[in-house]
Amino acid sequence: MFVDSHAHIDGEGFDADRDEVVARAREAGVRAILNVGTGDPHGGELERAVEVAEKYAGVYAAVGVHPHDARLYDEAAERRLVGILKGGGRVVALGEIGLDFHYDHSPREVQREVFARQLRLAGEMSLPVVIHSREADEETVEILRGVYAGAPRGGVMHCFGGGRPMAEAVLELGFYISFAGNVTFKKAEGLREVALAVPAERLLVETDCPFMAPVPLRGRRNEPAFVVETARLLASLRGVGPEELGRTTCENFSRLFGVRVD
Ligand SMILES: [Zn+2]
Ligand SMILES: [Zn+2]
Repeated sequence: MFVDSHAHIDGEGFDADRDEVVARAREAGVRAILNVGTGDPHGGELERAVEVAEKYAGVYAAVGVHPHDARLYDEAAERRLVGILKGGGRVVALGEIGLDFHYDHSPREVQREVFARQLRLAGEMSLPVVIHSREADEETVEILRGVYAGAPRGGVMHCFGGGRPMAEAVLELGFYISFAGNVTFKKAEGLREVALAVPAERLLVETDCPFMAPVPLRGRRNEPAFVVETARLLASLRGVGPEELGRTTCENFSRLFGVRVD
């Protein structure tokens, strides 16, 4: 059994075959998928991510305002976000939120503010968080330390791409670390070293689909069933069987998001 701790199956790229995609994941042993809603918080995309999750057994949702869209965050967006989070149901986390200084789709100052604001919200609502950090590791840690230290429900650093110091800092804050297809890429030796050092009880795996399909499926549209390839790679790296790694990550998912995985 496996989990996909971060997927975007509500996207248009899955409109033609979403039922089959979820069925293939089930067949591959993927027992839980976290579908992460992103996009304009005024546009109905977050609601749509939740609707898609609720259609399928074992699919959960996280909603939040992505750093790309931080410039669209205002009082109305926050009211809408809080409404969805309070709606409960399959919604189990706030995210993805964070900093993306690679694309800079929103001004950095705005990204910092919106990230901190949503972290506070998660604390108030006692929800775990899903963090996106790209080329902003030090500032992400700084904000997590400043705003989040001591918050009750922890969270996950998704699609981890940072170095050892970043990993150690977030582990110290109680976070889980989730690896995506990029950990299977040929040149990712440094990232594999980090993955080897993450304690089993803090490890997660994800696809971040439709992006970043793992080797040997690289270049194809990614989908939750492919998480098995990333889990296999991590298992062999860590000297355990894929079943054991799968089971451990299922337990971690269950503990972090407060849901049953079976
Ligand atoms: Zn992300
Ligand atoms: Zn994502």
